[in-house]
Amino acid sequence: MNDQTLIEQLKKENQSLRERNEELEDFMENASIPLHWVDSRGIIVWANQAELDALGYTREEYIGRPVKDFHADQPVINDILHRLGSKETLRNYEARLKCKDGSIRHVLINSNVLWKDDKFIHTRCFSRDITELKDLERKREEFLGAASHELKTPLTSLQAYVQLMERTLNEGDVPKSTLYLHKTKSYLDRLNKLISELLDISRIQGGKLECNYTSLDLDELVNEVIDGVKHTTHHKIIKKGGIAKLVIADKQRIEQVMVNLLTNAAKYSPKSDKIIVTVSEINNEAVISVQDFGIGVPEEKQQKIFERFYRAQQDQTQFQGLGLGLFISCEIVKQHKGRLWVESEEGKGSTFYFSIPVSQ
Ligand code: ADP
Repeated sequence: MNDQTLIEQLKKENQSLRERNEELEDFMENASIPLHWVDSRGIIVWANQAELDALGYTREEYIGRPVKDFHADQPVINDILHRLGSKETLRNYEARLKCKDGSIRHVLINSNVLWKDDKFIHTRCFSRDITELKDLERKREEFLGAASHELKTPLTSLQAYVQLMERTLNEGDVPKSTLYLHKTKSYLDRLNKLISELLDISRIQGGKLECNYTSLDLDELVNEVIDGVKHTTHHKIIKKGGIAKLVIADKQRIEQVMVNLLTNAAKYSPKSDKIIVTVSEINNEAVISVQDFGIGVPEEKQQKIFERFYRAQQDQTQFQGLGLGLFISCEIVKQHKGRLWVESEEGKGSTFYFSIPVSQ
């Protein structure tokens, strides 16, 4: 091989090494997973774009700073640095990082150290964001707590009333037995409602909330529902308006929406004495509204109350419930090609509306 050929070959090898280097750099810099290196003093010496994006810092704000500054829990980062310094490899180590906007992100850290001649060069740290997962976990735990509480409370009362009834029946005290029987029935109704809601939720999640459509006299249905609900509340339920046309709907499901709106109106307006139900036809749609004069819903929560499990009042002792009724009602109305919405003023009351198309 003459000198010229050797030079040519070296040039080529050099070129391909440079290209390989560039590719590796690009891979690290633009990988979608956040990566960083920390030196033996705990200073961040390099971070890729995904890491900066995840936390919201610029390169200048992040690189050259102690990694501890970005951790929400100092004992955790101290432990991480100690383990890495002891040549341990961290796998899925949970930590909380501080973002520039003040929020906290939960991450799983995977890291170890590059050592050369027993000298700590830098860490190779990968992190995976699990904030959404943590949020879901928290919501699931909250829901399980609330659901157990909601199921346990009526069961405990049922047990007590059945025992009392046993005693008063033995004593031949018919008025008291009748009273306890009514109490028992109302707790059974509450349990039944809760269990039905939970079953509906699993049907909705499985896409199996089926409706059996028939031609329906909505006006008659509203009267029936009002008749049924009026015995369960001290409120006077006033009906206004009416509609002569029929709708194509699932009777039981629309009844369920009506009962839900009416029982909510009664539940969230304990100090008022009336509820107004209005039936009307607007632009080929039957519109039913249920108006109460109760606690109302703050504006910023008016969209959220239709979400699964969302409750505007967290205090479970004042108003019982799981935050499922409106979500289920909304799904039912959507299946009927209709809409469900609210107008409300905090402290003054709410009007819930739903619409379904009328048959032509
Ligand atoms: P639940 O009543 O079991 O909590 P819902 O899904 O029926 O569940 O309602 C969700 C939330 O919407 C309630 O927790 C409550 O905060 C709010 N809400 C519903 N109806 C009314 C109403 N008529 N007045 C005030 N707030 C209401």
